[in-house]
Amino acid sequence: LIELRGVNKYYGPLHVLQNIDLTVARGEVVVVIGPSGSGKSTLCRTMNRLETIESGLITIEGTPLPAEGRGLARLRAEVGMVFQSFNLFAHRTVLDNVSLAQIKVRKRKKEDADRRSRELLDRVGLLSQADKLPAQLSGGQQQRVAIARALAMDPKALLFDEPTSALDPEMINEVLEVMRQLAREGMTMVVVTHEMGFARSAANRVVFMSDGRIVEDRTPEDFFTAPASDRAKDFLSKIL
Ligand code: ATP
Ligand code: MG
Repeated sequence: LIELRGVNKYYGPLHVLQNIDLTVARGEVVVVIGPSGSGKSTLCRTMNRLETIESGLITIEGTPLPAEGRGLARLRAEVGMVFQSFNLFAHRTVLDNVSLAQIKVRKRKKEDADRRSRELLDRVGLLSQADKLPAQLSGGQQQRVAIARALAMDPKALLFDEPTSALDPEMINEVLEVMRQLAREGMTMVVVTHEMGFARSAANRVVFMSDGRIVEDRTPEDFFTAPASDRAKDFLSKIL
C-alpha cells in the first residue's frame, strides 16, 4: 500500500533519512521505534509529503507521490495523520472539527459530513461530547476526536506520530484501545510510539531506526526477544 525505495532526505548537512526502504502492506500495523532524533517523525511526515525528499521514490498503491499540485492533495488525503499535539480547532465544536475537512476536501454536504462524524464519534466513544469545545475535553478525549477526524477522510492508511506522548498516563490506554480496535478492523497503520506494550500486542512488524537508518525490521516477537543489533539492544535496555 505504501512503499518507499531508496529515500534520502537532508536538513542542510544532516542526512536525516538514509536510503530508506520500507513496504507497508494493506492491513499491516508497523510500529516505528528508536532514539530521539533518529528520524521517526521525519519518516512519517515524508510518507505523505509534509516533507520533501532529495532522492528515492514513494508510492501509494503504486502511484508515485507527486511533488505538488492537485495530485498531491488527493494522494495525501489517502494517508491520514495523527500527531502528538491534537491540533483541533479551539473555537469549533467537536462535531465541526470532524466535519470540516470532509466538507472542504471531500466536498461532502454538511448534513452528510455531520452524519459521518457522529458515526465516527460514536466509534471512539465520544458521541455524547459532539457539541462541546475541545477545551472542555480531556487530552485523551481530544486525541480520540483527532483520530475520528482522520478517519472521516476515509483514508487508506493512518500514520500516528507519538499519539499518546502528550497524555497523562491514565488517558493513554483509552487512545491505545481505539488504535487496537482499528488494527483489528484491518486499518493499515504506521505508528511511532514508545508504548512497547502496544508494539508487542498490535504490531505486525517493528521497525527500529537509528541515525536516519532502518536498522531492524522484524516481527515484534523476534525484535523484543532477540534484537539483532547492538543499537536496538542498547535502546531496549534503557526503556524496558
Ligand atoms: P523524537 O523521538 O525526539 O521525536 P525523531 O526520531 O522523531 O525524534 P526527527 O524529528 O525525525 O526525529 O528528527 C531527526 C533529525 O532531524 C534530528 O536530528 C532533528 O534535530 C532534525 N530535524 C528535524 N526537523 C528539522 C528541521 N525542520 N530542520 C532541521 N533539522 C531538523
Ligand atoms: Mg518525533
